[in-house]
Amino acid sequence: MREIDFSKFSSIKIGPKVEVLEIDEIGEIPKDIFLIGGANNLLISPNPPKLAVLSKKFDYIFEDKDGIHIGAATSGGKVLSYAKKYNLKGFELLQKLPGTMGGIVKMNAGLKEFCISDNLINVLANGTKTAKNDIDFGYRKSGIQGVIFEAVFAKIEGFDYALFEMFKNMRNNQPNLPSAGSCFKNPPNDFAGRLLDKAGFKGRRIGNMAFSDMHANFLVNHGNGTYEEAITLINEAEETIFEKFGIKLELEIEIIRKNF
Ligand SMILES: Cc1cc2nc3c(=O)[nH]c(=O)nc-3n(C[C@H](O)[C@H](O)[C@H](O)COP(=O)(O)OP(=O)(O)OC[C@H]3O[C@@H](n4cnc5c(N)ncnc54)[C@H](O)[C@@H]3O)c2cc1C
Repeated sequence: MREIDFSKFSSIKIGPKVEVLEIDEIGEIPKDIFLIGGANNLLISPNPPKLAVLSKKFDYIFEDKDGIHIGAATSGGKVLSYAKKYNLKGFELLQKLPGTMGGIVKMNAGLKEFCISDNLINVLANGTKTAKNDIDFGYRKSGIQGVIFEAVFAKIEGFDYALFEMFKNMRNNQPNLPSAGSCFKNPPNDFAGRLLDKAGFKGRRIGNMAFSDMHANFLVNHGNGTYEEAITLINEAEETIFEKFGIKLELEIEIIRKNF
């Protein structure tokens, strides 16, 4: 077990201090336990379900004839440094895309038309290796059930500095305050941020939580913001967008409460 204070550990700086099960061996975990990665996409309630996290054993990168093997507990930042050092292509998007490889693959995290599954070869989840083509990757989803322990990527030479700079500049209109990234997924042919802005949510604040005045789709914590404040804002936004535009926004961040 390991104690984690989610008000410090999570990117949105909300959540209780709880004992979390550390997973040290490849296998399945009980269905009532929620697995966290780096908690960059999570809003954790004061009364969460049982939680688990991978141990440092799964923090590694090595190469062999099959490709680049990356342990699921390895941070995106570490992978990006490795890709720069060894001049490898395909990891440029990890620039300011916070998370562990497990969380990044599970969410099929990405920017614009690029996503982490682009150069993926296979994933080791639970105890089974599955080829990329047999996984149902889509916009911010992978359909992978259970625990990802490792992902293997194609080795392609040539780190793309132009792409890297482009990703870096895309961040200029995003807030530096703690958040969990985009709050809602973009609906088909539209942008959640545009809808929130039009509906007057840009800068809308309750207590210490707010939809950012820089980018309306970022739910930010001004300091000591609470779970309840965040939930109230999310509910208000969902209801208003539906009333005004008839669009049901889908959450991109995951709310972690009992019976998830
Ligand atoms: C400032 C900021 C900017 C962001 N920008 C972007 C962006 O541009 N694009 C984007 O796609 N995302 C973005 N995000 C969201 C975040 O980077 C991604 O969702 C990332 O994938 C989260 O990884 P994590 O390890 O923190 O996962 P967590 O947030 O801990 O978990 C996310 C999901 O992954 C699952 N998971 C975690 N580890 C594993 C594992 N080993 N096996 C199976 N499932 C696992 C969890 O159960 C959960 O369902 C941003 C976040 C922040 C804070």
